Amino acid sequence: MKHKEAFVVCDRCSASIANDDWTWLDMYADTPEESLEMHARHTASVEAMGIVGMAAKAEGGYIRCFVCGMDEMGGYVWEQVMT
Ligand SMILES: [Zn+2]
Repeated sequence: MKHKEAFVVCDRCSASIANDDWTWLDMYADTPEESLEMHARHTASVEAMGIVGMAAKAEGGYIRCFVCGMDEMGGYVWEQVMT
């Protein structure tokens, strides 16, 4: 049986996965092309995680977000859900 993988994801991306809403990316993009590119990159990261469920709040300190790659204060641990 495949081992379950876990990913640390920042608060902002965790909310985006939960709500399937990535509109905040548009605020970070300078051009429509950059916005499209950012949406594609983040969606690819989420797809790479597979089917995930939020497991727990990440413990203390800074985390490196698996989805956006930014160092953020706090976040959530998402675990793959076996189907
Ligand atoms: Zn993030």
